[in-house]
Amino acid sequence: MTRLAVLRDEIHACRRCPRLVEHRESVAIEKRRAYRDQTYWGRPVAGFGDGRAPLIVVGLAPGAHGANRTGRVFTGDRSGDFLYAALHRAGLANQAESRGPGDGLTLRGVYVLCPVRCAPPDNAPLAEEIATCSDFFDRELALLPRRRRFLALGALAFSAVLDHLARRGVALPTPRPKFGHGVAVSCGPYRLHGSYHVSQQNTQTGRLTAAMFDEVLRAALEAPG
Ligand code: SF4
Repeated sequence: MTRLAVLRDEIHACRRCPRLVEHRESVAIEKRRAYRDQTYWGRPVAGFGDGRAPLIVVGLAPGAHGANRTGRVFTGDRSGDFLYAALHRAGLANQAESRGPGDGLTLRGVYVLCPVRCAPPDNAPLAEEIATCSDFFDRELALLPRRRRFLALGALAFSAVLDHLARRGVALPTPRPKFGHGVAVSCGPYRLHGSYHVSQQNTQTGRLTAAMFDEVLRAALEAPG
């Protein structure tokens, strides 16, 4: 068993945040009508992808009826449909569809994870929950030896990457970089890019289009390092 697989098992068993444990499990019992015949995962969700990837895509937290249902990050909801289709267009995924474990999806050159591993109420984790889960974030990233570029989806992800780098002793630029769509900053040997989150609120309103996301993804892929 790889160290990444051992860590994933540890993540899957975690119950450190009582509010999130209660929420992820109650959603898994109540279910959405469309999925009432399915067994929800209802547990923390670890990262997914190529363990030797230079590019790390960082989200926020599992979707209640997406990753919290399927058990794979960004899988089973519109956010994931948008993200994996983009990764496929960029040649980083072998298929555009991400339906669930066993669907044949593989990633090459990219790894996807979230700083919070349990679905939060209203997609809004508390600061203390982000802090509690940061241990897993740091340890999972540490097991990705070729990571050099981060693509953060949203302000919280952007901040989580900066905090992670600071905890690892990387000197951050001053003033501390601010999130924005298309922002790119160097932090030591790492390059951090920001994109609006691939949530339905952004993609269905046109705030984030496929072309906009492709451009940020291209910039992250072409960054030196
Ligand atoms: S959010 Fe992280 S630390 Fe909190 S219960 Fe889930 S896996 Fe554990």
